[in-house]
Amino acid sequence: MDAEAQERYAAQRQLMIEEIARTTRETARETGRTALSDRVMQALARVPRHRLVPAAEEADAYRNRPLSIGLGQTISQPFIVALMTDLLEVKPGHSVLEIGTGSGYQAAVLAELGAKVHTIEIVEPLGREAANRLKALGYSGIETRIGDGFLGWPERAPFDSIIVTAAPADVPPELTRQLKLGGRLVIPLGPESGAQTLYVIEKRLDGGVVRRPVLAVRFVPLTGGGARPQ
Ligand code: SAH
Repeated sequence: MDAEAQERYAAQRQLMIEEIARTTRETARETGRTALSDRVMQALARVPRHRLVPAAEEADAYRNRPLSIGLGQTISQPFIVALMTDLLEVKPGHSVLEIGTGSGYQAAVLAELGAKVHTIEIVEPLGREAANRLKALGYSGIETRIGDGFLGWPERAPFDSIIVTAAPADVPPELTRQLKLGGRLVIPLGPESGAQTLYVIEKRLDGGVVRRPVLAVRFVPLTGGGARPQ
């Protein structure tokens, strides 16, 4: 890609960051956050989102809206990626599980924060495409897998945090099981075509689990695992 295009995308990325900051302020009454951490904003400013979306969506990659990635799947608007990442409270070296690789964008953001990222996608062509794109961009530390995230990734458990980017009706029990004590799960819950809510679920040091609703959201359904009949 030529230098001019690089510059154009960098400028668009900066506008996207400003838009995320604005949306954060606009939703503060619901989320309780007037700003997201600088670390998260800086990570978002580094990831070339236009290289992770299909060519047809490239020109819209930095708009603050969801995008289609084919095969009936939609990826979240950048603000939601930013908010969910912030809620995970990722520290360098944390082991993070993502359910729903999709385009690979969220995984790249987590890798930029220094996390060891494990990500599962159930739709094989999507998972393969994301794995190839992430590799081409140099995100070689991200471990990808085709499978049903409803069951987590027991061989890699326990995780410091888990992020689910598709909505089940309720929390898949394996996911809370695979969280470390003190770990957090960020997950949208709700019916396929109805009101969904983004939750932060904390597994306390005594093993107790507490849930906190954050924001009304709209995600594609989590399939597989008996999560919801097809
Ligand atoms: N995090 C992604 C967005 C994903 S959209 C990104 O940054 O681009 C949700 C994805 O979850 C879709 O690709 C969908 O195929 C996938 N998905 C749905 N059910 C799943 C399951 N049980 N296990 C793994 N992935 C699943």
